[in-house]
Parts: sequence; structure tokens; C-alpha cells
Amino acid sequence: MTGLPKNDDGTYQAFAWPGGYPIYYLFADGEVCCPSCANGQNGSLASETTDDKQWRLVAAGVNDEDDNMICSHCGGKIESSYGDLDESESDNPQEGDYTTMDHIHFYCDGKLVLTIPEGEEEELYLSQHFEEEGYYPNIWFISDHGNAHQFYVES
Ligand SMILES: [Zn+2]
Repeated sequence: MTGLPKNDDGTYQAFAWPGGYPIYYLFADGEVCCPSCANGQNGSLASETTDDKQWRLVAAGVNDEDDNMICSHCGGKIESSYGDLDESESDNPQEGDYTTMDHIHFYCDGKLVLTIPEGEEEELYLSQHFEEEGYYPNIWFISDHGNAHQFYVES
């Protein structure tokens, strides 16, 4: 068992819900790494079960404000939510908004609230859903880089 945040497919998550805050991972030797390297990309040997302290994943955290956090393996920048906020403070999901990373699964306040069935048209399905609920939240698409882009469903 592990407390590390994982997606449904077993990969380590890159962003925390809600809000899409960037997650970083911590090795047993105290170094940090990015989600890609935690998932074994870039030639990484990261694992929760290895005996090698250098590669053993022991914890995950949300990078709130360290704008200079660098992955110890690939040297890539681990983005901070603070840095994102700098770009545009109001341009982020608020409580009660829906967020999605794949245009299939929609989350509200960290809970999965809607899954678009295969073959259904996304916008149509969403607008029907909102009509039934009588609730019209803002909808955000969270990019691979953790940036939120609002999109609109025509009713
Ligand atoms: Zn990395």
C-alpha cells in the first residue's frame, strides 16, 4: 500500500485535484523528481519498492510556491502553483467548478462527478447534464502543464 497519488491507470499523478496543482515526488535520499520521472520516463529507475535510496519514491507533495524546483533526474522544472497564479489570478478553477484533463472525466471539488459515455458528444452531453442538474458551473480543461483553460458549453 502506498500514499502516493495515482491515476486510475496506475501511473503517478502530475497534478492534484481540485485546482490542478503541480505534484512533485521525493526520493528516499531527499532529492525531488518530476511526475514524468516518477513514472519511469527519461530513463528513470524510480520505484516504490527498490532498495536503492536514490530511486525509492517515498512521498509526494504539491509544489505551492517554489518557483525554482528542479527535477533531480531530468533537470526539468517542476512548476509551482504560485507561478501559475502569477500569470492570471482569476483564471483558475474555483470551488464548484468542473475540471477535466481528458474531456471525458469531469471533477468538481476533487470528486468525479461526470463521465462522458463512449460515443456521446461531449458538449451535448454536458449541456444535458447541466440542464438536468439545474446547475451551470464554469468548466476548465487542465493541460499537461497544469494550466487551466475555461471552455464553454452552449445551452
Ligand atoms: Zn524529471
